[in-house]
Amino acid sequence: MKRVYMDANATTPLLPEVMEAMRPYWMERFGNASSIHLDGQQAHSGVDRARATMAEFFNCHDAEVVFNSGGTEGDNTAIFGLLRPGDHFITTAIEHSAILAAAERMASRGVETSFVAPQPSGLIDPADIQKALRPETRLISVMLANNETGVLQPVEEIGRIAGEASVFFHIDAVQGAGKITLDVLRFGCHLCSISAHKMHGPKGVGAMFVRRGTPVESLIVGGSHERRRRAGTENVPGIVGLAKAAELAMLSLEDGTIDRVAALRDRLEAEILKLPGTGVNGARDGEKTVPRVANTTNIWFDNLEGEALVIALDLKSVAVSGGSACHSGATEPSHVLMAMGLNKTRARASLRFSLLKTATEADVDYVLKVVPEAVEHLRAISPVAAGTLG
Ligand code: PLP
Repeated sequence: MKRVYMDANATTPLLPEVMEAMRPYWMERFGNASSIHLDGQQAHSGVDRARATMAEFFNCHDAEVVFNSGGTEGDNTAIFGLLRPGDHFITTAIEHSAILAAAERMASRGVETSFVAPQPSGLIDPADIQKALRPETRLISVMLANNETGVLQPVEEIGRIAGEASVFFHIDAVQGAGKITLDVLRFGCHLCSISAHKMHGPKGVGAMFVRRGTPVESLIVGGSHERRRRAGTENVPGIVGLAKAAELAMLSLEDGTIDRVAALRDRLEAEILKLPGTGVNGARDGEKTVPRVANTTNIWFDNLEGEALVIALDLKSVAVSGGSACHSGATEPSHVLMAMGLNKTRARASLRFSLLKTATEADVDYVLKVVPEAVEHLRAISPVAAGTLG
């Protein structure tokens, strides 16, 4: 039976065009991009072309693009590369662990962090960032889109606040890249991290926008690669694949693909919400609709365990997630949903459906067939429903 994969925020498959673009760089054009002979120069020109594409993707200069190993490295670089003992750091309670764990490590190095809580809608209020500013604040880091709810944060306003306070601003754009147009100028950030594997590119490669003059120290030292910003022989096939994925992502934003994904997500969500005891996390702010990326919906199902539903759906060939992939297997409820004010039971009973941009009507039809059956079955046997779980 064909599987329906609705866990795109965990990772995505390569698109065939990405695979084709990478293919020559494994064997025929295998050279080291730092070598001066023809083999090296072939690899070098692949990296150069990729850099130009990524500059277009970020809306920055070629010299402001640094290739790295992905989102975790970008997030770590912003924090370890800029903060020094005595500095103050502002981030949010709903960031990815690549930010939260790095902030935790900085505590033992004399850097205090303020974790700004979201509104119940999942949105960060820029006024709360403003309030957290101190004279010694050096860096603000806020994600563009949350990986669990898809909620898009008001980065432009936060960028304005950072600019007025002369504080560096990093955006973790891992979940926004490819789903909305990036524009680091408009966002007003100094640093911006993305990852290829979240947008149909290869795993273990990413890029970071580093605004000219930003004094961020390299995490990895050695050779003079990437203008001394990131040492190590370039992952040429990965970099070429990232750029191809970015090029296709820019097209998808223009040719109606992303709008089509939004319509599929909306239909999926509306139909699931017809089940009793369900609701969406991060869709509404009072009367207002919360801005979200097109492919994500995070839904709670009362009277069942989310993990049991993930497993039941997996057995029916549907892949979804009960929170961020990095926490799967852990029994702790999602820190994002808890920060939004959900109680533990409801946070544990929440599922993330995140659609690939290749998702079809038939995928949604199938999920809509199996979800109600699985929910009904689990509710009938659930210890949560029976009140035997604390
Ligand atoms: N930031 C966010 C918001 C993410 O969702 C992820 C991955 O789940 C990362 C950072 C880490 O990216 P990578 O897997 O490329 O290290």
